[in-house]
Amino acid sequence: MKNTVNIIGAGLAGSEAAWQLAKRKINVRLYEKKTIERNPVQKLNTLAELVCSNSLRSNDIKNAVGVLKEEMRMLDSLIIKAAEYAQIPAGGSLAVDREKFSQYVTEKLYENEFIEVIEQEVKEIDESIPTIICSGPLTSQNLQNSIGKIVGKDYFYFYDAVAPIVTKESIDMNIAFRKNRYEKGETQDYINCPMNKEQYTLFHQELVNAQTAEKHLDKEKELKVFEGCMPVEVMAKRGFDTLTYGPLKPAGLRNLDGTNNFAVVQLRQDNAADNLYNLVGFQTNLTWSEQKRVFRLIPGLGKAEFIRYGVMHLNNFINSPLLLNEYNQLKTNKNIFFAGQITGVEGYVESCSSGIIAAINMAKMLEEKEMVKFPTETVMGSLQNYIISTDSKNFQPMKANWGIVKELEIAKKVKKEEKKELYSNKALDTMKTFIKTL
Ligand SMILES: Cc1cc2nc3c(=O)[nH]c(=O)nc-3n(C[C@H](O)[C@H](O)[C@H](O)COP(=O)(O)OP(=O)(O)OC[C@H]3O[C@@H](n4cnc5c(N)ncnc54)[C@H](O)[C@@H]3O)c2cc1C
Repeated sequence: MKNTVNIIGAGLAGSEAAWQLAKRKINVRLYEKKTIERNPVQKLNTLAELVCSNSLRSNDIKNAVGVLKEEMRMLDSLIIKAAEYAQIPAGGSLAVDREKFSQYVTEKLYENEFIEVIEQEVKEIDESIPTIICSGPLTSQNLQNSIGKIVGKDYFYFYDAVAPIVTKESIDMNIAFRKNRYEKGETQDYINCPMNKEQYTLFHQELVNAQTAEKHLDKEKELKVFEGCMPVEVMAKRGFDTLTYGPLKPAGLRNLDGTNNFAVVQLRQDNAADNLYNLVGFQTNLTWSEQKRVFRLIPGLGKAEFIRYGVMHLNNFINSPLLLNEYNQLKTNKNIFFAGQITGVEGYVESCSSGIIAAINMAKMLEEKEMVKFPTETVMGSLQNYIISTDSKNFQPMKANWGIVKELEIAKKVKKEEKKELYSNKALDTMKTFIKTL
């Protein structure tokens, strides 16, 4: 077959990528191993399985993930079509009957003349064949080894240990202050939230008693004892003072008037646009509602807007900022593209959108046309931009959110709700124009 592309993994990203290539009349061999061996969270034999929640989150186009779905609709996304076909009532969210959803995708792919679905585990990647690797957060062990050989094992990670991220504008700078520990460096990069003993005591008590999230896999228990990514609540349970000798250490962080603190929470800049900050050392396994409740007890974060909550779970992903270009293509081998959660996007919808970017660019490459960079005014483009341009040393997966979208000068002066509308309109207008150039 001329111009045949191998796609490894028929989950969310792989199914979408296969569809997009077939639309462009490119032959696809779509490899999926689940009928041979399922991973611990799979329950169905059909493709594009939603392994946990049955929601593709908000459909509201003032919400970044709502706009992302609208952008994907414009690009004739199979996954969005399937979701709308299998939709069930869920307020403003796009929730689905997961079996109907998966069945729809499976039928569309099996009946497509350009797609051959091959029920097989890929153990070794043939780098001479154009390939999109979409094997997801639970990539099989053999394939992990093969990917490790291609990208370097130091650039392939096995779990998330993510601290929450808040918007800078939601931090109360009447309480928090900017300073580096011992004022090292020329600029004061960190934002510090100071605590007196009374505030710390309350925070500590609520943290140790807070509810943790249910674990998906037994292996995750191992994370508990791995000191490098110990959850903040586990550290807190070791003793009242433990955190004040760890991430909440007050040394070198006196208040601007020179007075001492009992404990200090530090926040570090998370993106180039400087509008998102992560809580340093706050990897956590608390439920999302508990994170919001307990972390808002931190002085200065009383009204914090959480863009991403902390998580700790198994998740295979590569160091995309070092390894990929703007087309989802490996910098060191033009035949190899990655898509889905394995690139460091996080979520069902985000994974599919990354499959679209990889497929469109793979098609361009095979047709010997110039590849395309998705505009950073769109949610698709900004997510793509985030995974390739963020700090490679602290790279962790990211969901769609307004904080990563290219800043609009005009939006600086307006209220939050209006701001969302401006960003949404800009994203959708930009995508409409961009699609005409494809
Ligand atoms: C436990 C867990 C729960 C999650 N819950 C949610 C949630 O509720 N909501 C949300 O938005 N996101 C969730 N995610 C994150 C993510 O959105 C999903 O994992 C999503 O399915 C990722 O899409 P993907 O296409 O990258 O990978 P997947 O959908 O996992 O697809 C990868 C496919 O590759 C196949 N495969 C793996 N190795 C091989 C191989 N060697 N050969 C052939 N096939 C192979 C797998 O069988 C699988 O079908 C969760 C992740 C995990 C791990």
